[in-house]
Amino acid sequence: MRVVLATHNPHKVSEFAQIVARTRPDLEIVGYDGPEPVEDGVTFAENALIKARAAAEHTGLAALADDSGICVDVLGGSPGVFSAYWAGQKKDAQANLDLLLDQLADIADHHRTAQFVSTIALVTPGGDEHVVAGRWPGRLAHAASGSGGFGYDPIFVPDGQEGEQRSVGEFSAEEKQSQSHRARAFDALIPLLKTL
Ligand code: IMP
Repeated sequence: MRVVLATHNPHKVSEFAQIVARTRPDLEIVGYDGPEPVEDGVTFAENALIKARAAAEHTGLAALADDSGICVDVLGGSPGVFSAYWAGQKKDAQANLDLLLDQLADIADHHRTAQFVSTIALVTPGGDEHVVAGRWPGRLAHAASGSGGFGYDPIFVPDGQEGEQRSVGEFSAEEKQSQSHRARAFDALIPLLKTL
C-alpha cells in the first residue's frame, strides 16, 4: 500500500522512512511534490493536519504529515510551532540554536527542562482524520555538542541516560530513531495504520 508523506525536509523523510521500514515494511512511503499549503496553524496538530489534508487531496492517497519542534518549559512552551523560524524567517538552524542558548544563558540546570514534540496527522482518501503525538523529554545543555542529527539536536540532552549525559547530536542515527519524539509518535500511529 502506498502512503504519501507530506514533508519536504529530507532529514525527516529519511528518519521517517527508516522508522516505517522497521515497523511496517509493507508500506511504500512516497514523497510529496505537490503544492505546499500555508502552515498557519497555531498548534503542531493543526499544522500537521493542514499538510496531510493537502497531500491527500492532491494525490488521492492516504497521507501522513508531521509537525514538530522543541518546547522549553521556562519559555512557556516556545519555540514550539516557531522552532524552525525562532531566529527569523531564514530557517537558519544554527542561528535558532544560538538564540535559544543565549535566551537561557542565566537559567540554572534544573530549570532547563524541555521536550521535543512530534505530531503526526493521518488523513485517508475518504477524509478520515487522526492525530497522534510523541514527546521526548530532556533538558537543554549550556553549549552545543556533537554533529549528528539536525536542528536543536546538539543542545538537547534526553532524560533517562545512565552516566554521561549526551546531547542528541552525539547519538547515532539508530539510537535517535529508536527513542525520538518521531519514533514515539509513530508507535502511536501503528494501530491507525493497521486500519487502513
Ligand atoms: P517543522 O519542519 O515545521 O516540523 O519544524 C520542525 C523544526 O523543529 C525543525 O526545523 C527543527 O528546528 C525542530 N526539530 C524538529 N524535530 C527535531 C529533531 O528531531 N531534532 C532537532 N530539531 C528538531
